[in-house]
Amino acid sequence: MNETMITLVTGANKGIGRQIAAQLGALGHSVVVGARDTELGRKAATELRESGADATSVMLDVTDPDSAAAAAAEIESRYGRLDALVNNAGISVPPGSDPGDQRPSTADMDVLRAVFETNYFGVIAVTNAMLPLLRRSASPRIVNVSSSVGSLTINADLKGTDGPPLMPVSAGYATSKTALTALTLQYAWDLLAEDIKVNAVCPGYVATDLNGHRGHRTPAEGAVAAVRMATIGADGPTGTFTDDEGPAPW
Ligand code: NDP
Repeated sequence: MNETMITLVTGANKGIGRQIAAQLGALGHSVVVGARDTELGRKAATELRESGADATSVMLDVTDPDSAAAAAAEIESRYGRLDALVNNAGISVPPGSDPGDQRPSTADMDVLRAVFETNYFGVIAVTNAMLPLLRRSASPRIVNVSSSVGSLTINADLKGTDGPPLMPVSAGYATSKTALTALTLQYAWDLLAEDIKVNAVCPGYVATDLNGHRGHRTPAEGAVAAVRMATIGADGPTGTFTDDEGPAPW
């Protein structure tokens, strides 16, 4: 492909998203850093430019449809189209809540709704706001940053041969990622005829604010699977769930 790829990464001011933006920038993409905090977004884009990338930022709170619409309008005025959308923004524990609030038997419904609002409904809102711009691309790609903690196959193994679940038992975070992986398939079917490729990835267990930096991988390592799917060629897949090592269990 000769044309510069225009790529939006949501939640790209820190963590894995920041590294996805950096790696795509290093590959020559024009990267748009989506951030709900305008200043943090600007700062990240400035630092990416200082490291040689072509980067700008846009204010984008994925839980706010008006913000998604405004971000799409801004990207349209800057570039006229979008080639790749990486839905990376996510939360595990809403501010002020306790992980126990997500335990199914003691769930705080407001906490569950807050997690789904970001990790599931936010992806739909942003994707649909960006679809008109993606349709103007010669090779549109959507990548959803999901997680194997939502894998039904892995979670169905209650004997836990490898120890307890990766994350606390959760009717919020884990199930929001189950839903996101499933949603990826639905979008892949929906957009198949338009050749808009939609894939989900798992970054692995990465040390970020999301998990109090308990992960054993670096954000740069966690970015690799998403970068791969944001840069697949015309013969690339759609409707897949992969990690660094290839297909991941649904
Ligand atoms: P971080 O907490 O480091 O980063 C999360 C990013 O999402 C931040 O930029 C944050 O912005 C942003 N964000 C949260 N809510 C919103 C919102 N409403 N609108 C816009 N942006 C928002 O976490 P990670 O980098 O670890 O997580 C990135 C993705 O990777 C998430 O989807 C997560 O579920 C997934 N993932 C992470 C794993 C891990 O081990 N870390 C494992 C599997 C999946 P702000 O700075 O303003 O809070």
